[in-house]
Amino acid sequence: MSGQEKHKTDVIIIGAGPVGLFAVFELGLLDLKAHVIDILGKPGGQCAELYPEKPIYDIPAWPVISGQELTDRLIEQIKPFSPTLHLGEMAAKLEKLESGHWKLTTDAGTEIEASVIVVAAGGGSFVPKKPPLTGIEAYENKSVFYAVRKIDPFRGKNILIAGGGDSALDWVLNLQPLAKSIALVHRRDEFRAAPDSVKRMRTLVAEGKIALHIAQLSALKGNNGQLAAVTVKSDAGAEHDIACDTLLPFYGLTMKLGPLADWGINLDRNLIPVDTEKFQTSTPGIFAIGDINTYPGKLKLILSGFHEAALMAQAAYSHIHAGKKARFQYTTSSSEIHEKLGVPD
Ligand SMILES: Cc1cc2nc3c(=O)[nH]c(=O)nc-3n(C[C@H](O)[C@H](O)[C@H](O)COP(=O)(O)OP(=O)(O)OC[C@H]3O[C@@H](n4cnc5c(N)ncnc54)[C@H](O)[C@@H]3O)c2cc1C
Repeated sequence: MSGQEKHKTDVIIIGAGPVGLFAVFELGLLDLKAHVIDILGKPGGQCAELYPEKPIYDIPAWPVISGQELTDRLIEQIKPFSPTLHLGEMAAKLEKLESGHWKLTTDAGTEIEASVIVVAAGGGSFVPKKPPLTGIEAYENKSVFYAVRKIDPFRGKNILIAGGGDSALDWVLNLQPLAKSIALVHRRDEFRAAPDSVKRMRTLVAEGKIALHIAQLSALKGNNGQLAAVTVKSDAGAEHDIACDTLLPFYGLTMKLGPLADWGINLDRNLIPVDTEKFQTSTPGIFAIGDINTYPGKLKLILSGFHEAALMAQAAYSHIHAGKKARFQYTTSSSEIHEKLGVPD
């Protein structure tokens, strides 16, 4: 889903990491509907982005599970509650409405109204690392892009892709059939991407279908945000221009707190202090769970975030229902819960 849409829901969860995803489940058990926003194009937060194939050994009842498998299981677990995921969008602006509800606007223009905000933003939003090139801002989102959201605008373009990881190589392989030309620039002739992608890229180079330059980006040439060429520099210091109309730098991602810092919530060194009964922030109606929060004894572990999600959901229910407590029920024995989960009694 993306852009220019208006929605109303009970709870907006910022962050589709493991903790944000599990929060959908705990809220769903209490009949609270959620929309989840993540700047990444896929759910799973750090688990899916930073270590999809690494084994995790401290998820209760899973002696070993990979970051991606944990994400897949969470997605399966929250399916009965049909959350709306807004992926590839950053939670940018938060306003309090006269009704007492919150209005959250994403950088794609999606507006969502809700009674409760749950910040499950981990270490902050993943943002691209930019190449240190003078004046690059003037070209951004015109002819320099840090992510490919839709393939079609790149059809027939002369594209320069920079980087040596999975994103760079995946896009070389995916865009090559439809681009007019593809040049790949990497600082050394070794690639961190999956061996199969590296092999396929090298075949395309050998067939003359893409050009590989072992060099570093050193300058951009163009006008009014439209790129005409990129100057690259080899290790030996030799410079040359590569004609292109599009630059896609894939230098990895870094985490930044981003717009959350401007929402008037008390912060403590880029973390959000919460109480350990409700996991509420200094602002009533805004909760914070997972790696983003801090309290005495906090452990930045997935299992801590799961516990926080369960208590937060009880508090969110009370907040939405004028102080009324949610009825405590076990998932094993409650037929009401079985109905919500779609399991036969
Ligand atoms: C290499 C590595 C190994 C690890 N191993 C373990 C382990 O063995 N066991 C364990 O328990 N933990 C482990 N961790 C830690 C674990 O991954 C984190 O505790 C967990 O991911 C926190 O989950 P979260 O949902 O709070 O945040 P995250 O996983 O960080 O997800 C937060 C999400 O919020 C999004 N976001 C933030 N701000 C915005 C915004 N403004 N708009 C839109 N989206 C936004 C981010 O893009 C991100 O996807 C490991 C971490 C790393 C890096």
